[in-house]
Amino acid sequence: MSAVVAVFGFLFGCAIGSFLNVVIYRVPYGRSLVSPGSACPHCGVAIKPWHNVPVLGWLLIGGKCANAACRQPVSGRYPAVELAMGLAVSGLAWYFGPTVDLLVWSVFAALLMVIFWIDIDHRWILDVTSYPGLALGLFYQWSRGDLLHGALAAGFGFGFFWAVRKVAQVVFHKDGLGAGDERFAAMLGAWLLMPAMAVGMFLSFLVGSIVGLGMLIQRGSSRPYPFGPSMAVGAVIALIWGQAIWTWYLGWMV
Ligand SMILES: [Zn+2]
Repeated sequence: MSAVVAVFGFLFGCAIGSFLNVVIYRVPYGRSLVSPGSACPHCGVAIKPWHNVPVLGWLLIGGKCANAACRQPVSGRYPAVELAMGLAVSGLAWYFGPTVDLLVWSVFAALLMVIFWIDIDHRWILDVTSYPGLALGLFYQWSRGDLLHGALAAGFGFGFFWAVRKVAQVVFHKDGLGAGDERFAAMLGAWLLMPAMAVGMFLSFLVGSIVGLGMLIQRGSSRPYPFGPSMAVGAVIALIWGQAIWTWYLGWMV
């Protein structure tokens, strides 16, 4: 039973990922999600429906525009987003089964995916993603009788990032983090709750340092980079292993 649900979850997740590619590409420019249909950004030729099939379509065209006169590469990010969403929804379906929780957490996964890529592309975390994410998270906790817990964790996330930004302004006279990061942290708190939220925030700084160091080595510059993706990665790790990491940490402390 759970295997069947997981397979359906995978297919459904890939389809959601295909839609998210459009969201990530168009929403920052305020463009419509439905029209015009997908077209090659180089030659403008409309993409055939069977080339729009998640993951397989990209493999079918060999990662290049199907128009023989164009053949420009099509970013591997598109199938990667589809595959990642497929795996995420499949995992959630395996864990929750066909329940409302599956639906709610799939929306959370979709929001994380959108925030991750838009922050990389534009260095923005759009309020149209983090505010509904926060509201849905709090509503979800309310439905489970855990609203207070959710609100406290959201406030903790928001307050912590706000404080870090203020300290950076005073001490280093620059903005390391944006105000968007604070709202995203509030959203994550509402979903992760404590102690997973604390673990997730620690991990996001760990991931952020590794990424920053990698960029320093690769490019020889410490140019600021978006922090949202590190927060999203930290949140996912904390959701899966947060409790275990917290227990290990407490055991190590004593
Ligand atoms: Zn083309």
